[in-house]
Amino acid sequence: MNIHEYQAKALLRDYGVAVPNGCVAFTAQEAEDAATQLGGSVWVVKSQIHAGGRGAGRFTNDLTGPGGVRVVKSVSDVRRNAAQMLASVLVTKQTGAAGREVKRVYIEEGCAIERELYLGMLIDRNTSRITVMASTEGGMEIEEVAAHTPDKILKVAIDPATGLQSFHARQIAFGLGLSGKQVSAAVRLIVGMYRAFVELDASIVEINPLVVTTAGDVLALDAKINFDDNALFRHPSIEALRDEAEEDAAELEAAKHGLNYVTLDGNIGCMVNGAGLAMATMDIIKLYGGEPANFLDVGGGATRERVATAFRLILDDPKVEGILVNIFGGIMRCDVIAEGVVAAAREVDLRVPLVVRLEGTNVELGKQILRDSGLPILSADHLADAADKVVAAVARSHTGVQ
Ligand code: GDP
Ligand code: MN
Repeated sequence: MNIHEYQAKALLRDYGVAVPNGCVAFTAQEAEDAATQLGGSVWVVKSQIHAGGRGAGRFTNDLTGPGGVRVVKSVSDVRRNAAQMLASVLVTKQTGAAGREVKRVYIEEGCAIERELYLGMLIDRNTSRITVMASTEGGMEIEEVAAHTPDKILKVAIDPATGLQSFHARQIAFGLGLSGKQVSAAVRLIVGMYRAFVELDASIVEINPLVVTTAGDVLALDAKINFDDNALFRHPSIEALRDEAEEDAAELEAAKHGLNYVTLDGNIGCMVNGAGLAMATMDIIKLYGGEPANFLDVGGGATRERVATAFRLILDDPKVEGILVNIFGGIMRCDVIAEGVVAAAREVDLRVPLVVRLEGTNVELGKQILRDSGLPILSADHLADAADKVVAAVARSHTGVQ
């Protein structure tokens, strides 16, 4: 799960991470009030969406105008810029072309930046450890730094038995070229950030940029936290920060029905039982020249209703031009799957080719149900045959040749 920058900053602040003072606002009036309350003479108006790259992003209604993060010098400018951002659509490198509507802005005290640094923590799958990544190249995407100047990234893997110790934090602070009182400030921040990571069951905590101000303070100017969904049950207060408007509607709907569904960019919808088989199905679709529109694992003990819901989710996606149902009936019975598919296909307008590959328990019964349905279902005998058939059927629908 993802949260907004202002929420991440509030959490990190509780762990001793230094962040500027700020206030979230849902309206231009609230933004103005926030600026008045914060005081000072420079404010930053920041669009709150679950995507990075806001500073360099552009609003669809003002493509040549300023981005999603603006430094302003009067309360009336805070109000004006907040009003422009709210209800406008911001497109960044991370949002895709459709962009995201801004529904909240964060009003922060401005600060004078001397240096922008990068500080991130994530779980490194190679070492199975929380790894701290730091770089003097702050403000830009760490992926860019990693691609062009990988030697500018300092990585420190943390042994879970000891946790992050102050010597690790000092090593990072020195690696970032900090000195004097900035080192102790950075150490406090890094230690707090690590505690937040572990205690909140995060999977990523990223501060980009971490800045040194002209006054010599070390501050988190941006903050991003991703949480491990499997541990959310331990953190109801974090679950409460969920902003459903920022989440994929299909994925939300799927989660409500206990389906593991992830939206992807391709045009072939997949319904599979078992995560491993779902991965293999996506691979083989690609091998045959197609692109999966989603990952969908209906699980081991799906009911007819759940299968029908899964099928509807796939069909609701306008990108879908063909569907591959690939079921290995172990615990799951092929006839239950067939009934669910038929029920859903009848209910909705099945406007795309559907290939079904069934194998396992009650396979003959399942195939019979599909045949008897009278629906135009292409039956496949094995996985490669199924992938081949669905990719070919989608290609045929493009050329108009049946
Ligand atoms: P992102 O583009 O979504 O990653 O949003 P950030 O929160 O990182 O903001 C983008 C950039 O805005 C930062 O890299 C800073 O250069 C700049 N910025 C953010 N806050 C301030 C501030 O208080 N003062 C100044 N001068 N610049 C800021
Ligand atoms: Mn940033």
